[in-house]
Amino acid sequence: MQNEVYLYNTLSRKKELLEPLNPPHVGIYVCGPTVYGDPHLGHARPGIVFDLLFRYLKHLDYKVRYVRNITDVGHLEDDADDGEDKIAKKARLEKLEPMEVAQYYTNRYHHYMDKLNVLRPSIEPKASGHIIEQQEMIEMILKNGFAYEVNGSVYFDVEKYHKSHFYGKLSGRKVEDLMRGSRSLEGQDEKKNPIDFALWKKASPEHIMRWRSPWSTGFPGWHLECSVMSMKYLGEEFDIHGGGMDLLFPHHECEIAQSVAATGKEAVKRWMHNNLITINGQKMGKSLGNFITLEELFKGTHKLLDQAYSPMTIRFFIMQAHYRNPLDFSNEALQAAEKGMERLFDGVETLDNIIPEKESTVNTGELVKKCYDAMNDDLNSPVLISHLFDGVKLINNIASGKETIDKKSLDELKKLYHDFVFDILGMEKAEEGSGSGNKVNELMDLILNIRKDARSKKDFETSDKIRDELTKLGIEIKDTKDGAEWKTGK
Ligand code: ZN
Repeated sequence: MQNEVYLYNTLSRKKELLEPLNPPHVGIYVCGPTVYGDPHLGHARPGIVFDLLFRYLKHLDYKVRYVRNITDVGHLEDDADDGEDKIAKKARLEKLEPMEVAQYYTNRYHHYMDKLNVLRPSIEPKASGHIIEQQEMIEMILKNGFAYEVNGSVYFDVEKYHKSHFYGKLSGRKVEDLMRGSRSLEGQDEKKNPIDFALWKKASPEHIMRWRSPWSTGFPGWHLECSVMSMKYLGEEFDIHGGGMDLLFPHHECEIAQSVAATGKEAVKRWMHNNLITINGQKMGKSLGNFITLEELFKGTHKLLDQAYSPMTIRFFIMQAHYRNPLDFSNEALQAAEKGMERLFDGVETLDNIIPEKESTVNTGELVKKCYDAMNDDLNSPVLISHLFDGVKLINNIASGKETIDKKSLDELKKLYHDFVFDILGMEKAEEGSGSGNKVNELMDLILNIRKDARSKKDFETSDKIRDELTKLGIEIKDTKDGAEWKTGK
């Protein structure tokens, strides 16, 4: 099959043919989470969008090296150069070692990405494991004259860079406007210009995450790690850099400037950004009371949720929108996605039970072409899904005898659905015998609540009996400080 994949490039602002630098290899770098809090809806979308890209390119037989980092140092509270390190703050509040916080939330992130059937990346580097490489890049930028040291900190000289290059080319922001718009805050006075950003910060006495460097004992600036780790694992130039639209400025704009200032080369051939999630039309935010973690979503425990939604419902819902469009979460929309997903799974089941005839009245080749065309057109998963739904109507017509299908076409149709539904869209059917994954979750919540009540009444006979009987069924119960968790053993 001839597949020319067109992907939108945020930098050129148009769809461009994917022409890998070293075919059949494709290098992808995606900004991963800062691991200081529980994974939430905002993590689900980039996780799933770039998983779709990863899966589709692998399906087309590209050799994909997918690098997604873990930010475990240097991401300060204001997302720029001031405030406390997000992880160190959490560690201080919970009286933990910062790396304990980072490890805990990295594990949580993996757990929930696994539930969403997001494949693990090929390489998952951590910022704290690449301090030496970050110092090396700072040295390169200093040597090339695009950074300056002051009081043990090193800052990127945006104004100087902009004289010979173009700062703002990705985000479309103008340096002149940025300079006018940014006030010099107290404590920022050591920068030549308020829009300069830190490559290295000298640690204040209370700052616990610190490393020795030629300039001071301190820590790297947040933007630097991605330039450094993408270069280390994908080379000075690579195919695709992805992330959420919220990272476009300043994070990705700074990444471009750092790479060009260090190597003279524009590292990224194509920038891809997923749009953001809103909740009932509102931006998601802790202060708005609509900040939903993935755990709350899967258990239905947030006050905005009418019910629990299975990871696959969330996955399907996210893929029913094009990644560059905003996506609004509401109970109605999620319930509609749940129904749609079940219709698709039912279609696959019906298809698997069809017996071929000698003659075929249907043209399956056309459907196959439409499905690939949709994905080749900038990963248009909503159009793909609508074609798959059209195909379900066809499948039902065949099953009811209105149409007939021969063996060759039937095999083609089965391959199409198994490739697209399971391998590319990454859907997984709920546990066998459950009918719906949600029902199992609801039943388990019910059982665990009964056990909790028994325990609170010190009726340990009942609570132990529930645990033991579940163990016999292969369901393992674990008591945590947030209540009981369960999983099915293999
Ligand atoms: Zn990044």
